[in-house]
Amino acid sequence: MTSRNQSLFEAAQRHIPGGVNSPVRAFGSVGGIPPFFAGGKGPWAWDADGKRYLDYVCSWGPLILGHAHPETVEAVQEAASRGLSFGAPTEGEVELADLLCDLLPSVDMVRLVSSGTEATMSAIRLARGHTGRDLLVKFEGCYHGHSDSLLVKAGSGMLTFGNPSSGGVPADVAKHTLVLDYNDPQQLADAFATRGQEIAAVIVEPVAGNMNLVAPKPEFLKAARELCTRHGAVLIFDEVMTGFRVGPQCAQGLFGITPDLTTLGKVIGGGMPLAAFGGKREIMEKIAPLGPVYQAGTLSGNPVAVAAGLVTLKATRAPGFYQTLSTRTRQLTDGLTAAAQKHGIPFSAQAMGGMFGLYFRAAPPTSYSEVMECDKERFNRFFHTMLDAGHYFAPSTYEAGFVSVAHSEADVASTLAAAEKAFAAL
Ligand SMILES: *Cc1c(COP(=O)(O)O)cnc(C)c1O
Repeated sequence: MTSRNQSLFEAAQRHIPGGVNSPVRAFGSVGGIPPFFAGGKGPWAWDADGKRYLDYVCSWGPLILGHAHPETVEAVQEAASRGLSFGAPTEGEVELADLLCDLLPSVDMVRLVSSGTEATMSAIRLARGHTGRDLLVKFEGCYHGHSDSLLVKAGSGMLTFGNPSSGGVPADVAKHTLVLDYNDPQQLADAFATRGQEIAAVIVEPVAGNMNLVAPKPEFLKAARELCTRHGAVLIFDEVMTGFRVGPQCAQGLFGITPDLTTLGKVIGGGMPLAAFGGKREIMEKIAPLGPVYQAGTLSGNPVAVAAGLVTLKATRAPGFYQTLSTRTRQLTDGLTAAAQKHGIPFSAQAMGGMFGLYFRAAPPTSYSEVMECDKERFNRFFHTMLDAGHYFAPSTYEAGFVSVAHSEADVASTLAAAEKAFAAL
């Protein structure tokens, strides 16, 4: 008997490349048929066959309040009833901009966009326009959306031109991006020593969440800040994932480092297409219409998306919000670690606010190459066993996981009970 998921996946492949609108959804890494989701409520999501899952992906982070959060849904419906889009200023944008600048001391001004990709792409253009330099530094394993200058891998030597990591990216564009190792302050210092005059910006995920989860060494972020300041480069914290996910002032608040520009997305839209970039006034004033750096968007600051974002951000201000979220997430990572240990499986896990990493390796990785050492086959078996049992984790060992405040202690306990059985069978 074919399932509805399976027939939808086959149908989807007729007119959608790979049957999906974003590649990781195709389950290429773990194999099998992806569930086609039909609905969600709180920590739960259910698929086209009516199978229910406790969701630890949460739309890759945005759903910090869980699925179909009643106040968010109500705000969206109310905003939609007043008009879906005007392509002109609306009041909600002012409130959201004020709130973001209020919550983040490093952000004096902010511009709203519709995706994280747009936010990082625009922040980089702005940094280049501001400094009059072309060279961009990024770190291996960090993902900053899919614009050309970011789909780049390291060249043959450390300080040589970057090479395209995707078809369709001109080598001429890639050569303006230098790709260095995450958590290696010495290498970054060397790059500035040789090419400091050319570096427009350093862009970094202050907690890397797109190569599983890699925590920053404090000296790494500190070095990035100091080197950018000394050489007149712009430090961009890409907090599209970590923003209001790891804590009330994002990763920058957690580590006490002030970036020049910050990119936000995911949580700030509460599940709607909304993202932002912002930072120092003197840099932000270089954007059109105030300055020479062009940036625009038909649906930017969309009133329905802004309504969802406002409700979500305000909810995170409730007393104890991040305490609850962190406690719940740690309950999951501590419980999984204990269960694996009991069955002698080399495994580790760590939590940061409502974000977590699971590693089939004895200790949490600190670099991209250590992430690559995780036992992928074991992860895949664990993933499928958990999926069958109704617990939906990210379908790749190279992705972080997410918990919402709608996940109860009992929900996590039921996931731990299933994991205990899964580890026993590994
Ligand atoms: C998700 C993500 C992006 C891209 O955001 P989209 O909305 O998918 O374009 C950029 N940077 C980081 C750190 C992300 O996690």
